[in-house]
Amino acid sequence: MLRVLGTGLALALLCSALSSLSSAQQIHFRLLDRAAVETRLRSFSLKDPERETILKQMFLDSGCKPANISEQAVKAKQPPNLICVLPGETSEIILVGAHFDHVAAGDGVVDNWSGASLLPSLLYSLNELPRRHTFVFVSFAAEEQNLVGSNFYAQKLTPEERRKIHAMVNLDTLGLGSTEVWTSHADKPMLDALIAIAHALKLPIQGMNVDGVGSSDSESFAKIGVPRVTIHSLTTETLPVLHSKQDKLSAMKLNDYYESYHLLAGYLAYLDVRLDPLASPAAGPGADSNPSHPKGPAKPDQTGAAAPQ
Ligand SMILES: [Zn+2]
Repeated sequence: MLRVLGTGLALALLCSALSSLSSAQQIHFRLLDRAAVETRLRSFSLKDPERETILKQMFLDSGCKPANISEQAVKAKQPPNLICVLPGETSEIILVGAHFDHVAAGDGVVDNWSGASLLPSLLYSLNELPRRHTFVFVSFAAEEQNLVGSNFYAQKLTPEERRKIHAMVNLDTLGLGSTEVWTSHADKPMLDALIAIAHALKLPIQGMNVDGVGSSDSESFAKIGVPRVTIHSLTTETLPVLHSKQDKLSAMKLNDYYESYHLLAGYLAYLDVRLDPLASPAAGPGADSNPSHPKGPAKPDQTGAAAPQ
């Protein structure tokens, strides 16, 4: 998140009137065990270049093939965007992003090592089975300098590359409490899918608009017409943690953090089956809807919750 302005935030409880999940479609994913997820969370460095190096190793440890890891130079003398690709049955893409840079005030473990260090674990949740979409995990550089890394990434895409991205899921500032979603800046079908999977998994999801707080990497993609959603954990109570000395591990609620990981793993597996990889998104600047044809609701059936690292 960029900067704190403070007041006037709307806290809206999402309507739970969505139909229950009932079709025969099933989703499958595995979960890294909680101790391993927390070890990754605790492994943060106070130096952004080291964060990038640590993340790269985590991607390798999670099964990202070295040939599928790349770096995109963004700015001279600054760490690059770090990219891990999980090839799917089609070249249509679900992009999962979380910035790894931080501001100097605190440890930057909440904003946003909490999101960045989850990317390799989400890869692990998906890479045991074939997926229809290609998943592209990007840890963005220099988000705190006005979305520099994600803007660079988005603006470098050719129109053809852009059309292949069916969804962008952005993680920023997790674990301060239960999972929140920036509803006012979310693609509606992606938001509906998130609520549906949360209900199916019996995990909490609430809407918390952070329009007055700043921005996040999802907006670099909204600008080029890619459907997007930002998942976070901010409430009016926890806002003061952002960009302050309070941004420390001790500010986090690790039970909530693991639940956010669980929900995100299920969500990505669900989006993979719910979004039609053959639908062609009619993206354009300013477009804010997901033209993929939503399928009938799916029934989640995740695998055991504990798996070795
Ligand atoms: Zn952030």
